[in-house]
Amino acid sequence: MTLDAGWDEHEAARRVADAYRARFGAEPDGVWSAPGRVNLIGEHTDYNGGLCLPLALRHRTYVALGAAADGVVELASSASPEPWRAPRGDACPGAVAGWAAYPAGVLWALGEHHDVLPGGFRAVFDSCVPLGSGLSSSAAIQCSTAVALDEVAALGLGASDGGRAELVEACVRGENEVAGARTGGMDQSASLLAREGHALLLDMRDGSHRHVPFALDEHGLTLLVIDTRVAHTHAGGEYASRRAECEAAAVQLGVATLREVGCDGLDAALERLAGGVALADGGSSAGDVVRRRVRHVVTEIARVEAFVEALERGDLDAAGALMVASHASLRDDYEVSCRELDVAVSAALDAGALGARMTGGGFGGCAIALVRADRVDAVAGAVEGAYAAEGFAPPRFLEARPSGAARRSEAATAAD
Ligand code: ADP
Ligand code: MG
Repeated sequence: MTLDAGWDEHEAARRVADAYRARFGAEPDGVWSAPGRVNLIGEHTDYNGGLCLPLALRHRTYVALGAAADGVVELASSASPEPWRAPRGDACPGAVAGWAAYPAGVLWALGEHHDVLPGGFRAVFDSCVPLGSGLSSSAAIQCSTAVALDEVAALGLGASDGGRAELVEACVRGENEVAGARTGGMDQSASLLAREGHALLLDMRDGSHRHVPFALDEHGLTLLVIDTRVAHTHAGGEYASRRAECEAAAVQLGVATLREVGCDGLDAALERLAGGVALADGGSSAGDVVRRRVRHVVTEIARVEAFVEALERGDLDAAGALMVASHASLRDDYEVSCRELDVAVSAALDAGALGARMTGGGFGGCAIALVRADRVDAVAGAVEGAYAAEGFAPPRFLEARPSGAARRSEAATAAD
């Protein structure tokens, strides 16, 4: 079993700088990189004004970038055979198709408020974040672009938390308006604000964040990411309908977001939503469905708080139990899991993981498992075995090590 722990940062920076030289016959202004992310707990809470707890992965997207004088933007990626080349002004909503919409969107959104390289630029991307697996390769490519443009255009935003919050906003606008993907901001916040050795507690109601120490090594633990390698095509429509159900419930309850309900107010809210009729577990009437959605959101926000408290007192068993409860809630109340995720989680738990859950929006993507370091092979082997028994394609395994935010990455020299 091979556990993918990401690339060595300096080696990767050297490789992408070499690729830039080979492509453009010039020296880049520098190399920058930004991490993908995994969410520890707090799923489908972001658009409800709730809490979530992502961490930045060691898996990063690297960009070698150089300013140009000819008014042209040229983007190339090792992940795509299609480079994008256009006049600087074409980086705007409606004009960019395909993958280049992610970096071009950042350029456009930043350019709305700042003077960003009117002369154009060249960039080459290389990444070890799996694309489209729910580990946010989209935020990684955007945020690597954001810190590169920030520095080359001398905007100075990357140097402070406030400036980075502005970069997050530009990436979110770019993803929504140029790439045309709906997104809540968790991914870009993780990629631009995370700290090595920490998880990032994000409060989506007031936009605040706090770094929570997540010392896996101290506890002899590994956070195993299990990539199911499935992406169900109905995921987008299901996401939209979950959001609509939450918004409708909030209107019915007279609150701005479901965050306002709180655990203490949950029973009263559930009663109110059904006109006093008790929630039949597993019930499928429209009212029961909405109440189960609300129950997930409210209890999941409370689980994030409890998870942070468990980490802070070093009780990783309690943290693991909260992951298991989160998965059950996502599977039964929010109904966003799938067979591949459920099988991964059960097999990991049966093989001794302290906790396991689906992570990300659901319907495929990844699960995570908190595992004693000496049990990683056994847990991964059990998941592989369970997948084979089900007739699923083999999963892929990554190690999630809490890493640092988007930054300049120095290339390894020949002497290294
Ligand atoms: P995720 O963010 O979970 O990986 P998304 O569907 O949000 O999944 O984003 C994946 C898309 O982002 C890819 O299909 C591609 O368009 C773009 N992308 C991400 N990283 C790269 C890269 N290194 N090179 C080219 N395109 C990329
Ligand atoms: Mg994404």
